[in-house]
Amino acid sequence: MEQELIWIREKYPTESDYQAALDRYRTGEPLAYILGEQYFWRYCFTVTPDVLIPRPDTERLVETALSLLPQGGRFADLCTGSGAIALSICGDRTDLTCDAADISEAALEVAKGNARVIGTGDRVRFHRADLLAEDPLCGLYDAILSNPPYIPAKDIANYPSLAYEPQIALDGGEDGMDFYKAIIARFGSHLADDGCFLFEIGYDQGDAIRALADANGYVCTVTKDYGGNDRVAKLIKPINRKEVTQ
Ligand code: GLN
Repeated sequence: MEQELIWIREKYPTESDYQAALDRYRTGEPLAYILGEQYFWRYCFTVTPDVLIPRPDTERLVETALSLLPQGGRFADLCTGSGAIALSICGDRTDLTCDAADISEAALEVAKGNARVIGTGDRVRFHRADLLAEDPLCGLYDAILSNPPYIPAKDIANYPSLAYEPQIALDGGEDGMDFYKAIIARFGSHLADDGCFLFEIGYDQGDAIRALADANGYVCTVTKDYGGNDRVAKLIKPINRKEVTQ
């Protein structure tokens, strides 16, 4: 709290600007929007109300992807938002390339700015696309990542802090699973033989993603975040994995 006020003061040195920012802070606006930035992984991302604020839990997805992507690999990041996932991975691994997509032009502008700061150059390509209806991907990928909107529509109002964030980045439809269903159905043909989907999921969606994976012929492993909640789902085609066919 004290520290947050110091950050706000540093960002808004003029008294009137500081008071205006304090008003925003006191009415509950997230600090990341007031400061216009959020640290994630080991980078500082610009954020605006057009993008979801990157969460520390999502670093588990980055960590998992970094550990399994092969040297020189290519991956996709669907619903990239600020680009936090794609850019953290490609910032750390200069051997990788990524196609990152989002429906929001405004979000993509934020992501492109972050790409310039992190210096990923043309290794991360951004595509504007409605992933429920369009396919911006091209060829095969070692992994298709996504932290899509996954909160059940009726639950969003239960979290007052989410009111400031883009609803389009949160609303996963009636059961929160709309994007997983669409991504698995629409983009599975873009997975290389030993490729995988890697999704961030909600703390209570482990069983639902396992059932969805099963219904679509994938084997699913769910791992937890450091808060002990289910957070990352990895989906592979069983035919590609020795441990499954043995
Ligand atoms: N993890 C976010 C939250 O629960 C939601 C992110 C999302 O829908 N992808 O606040």
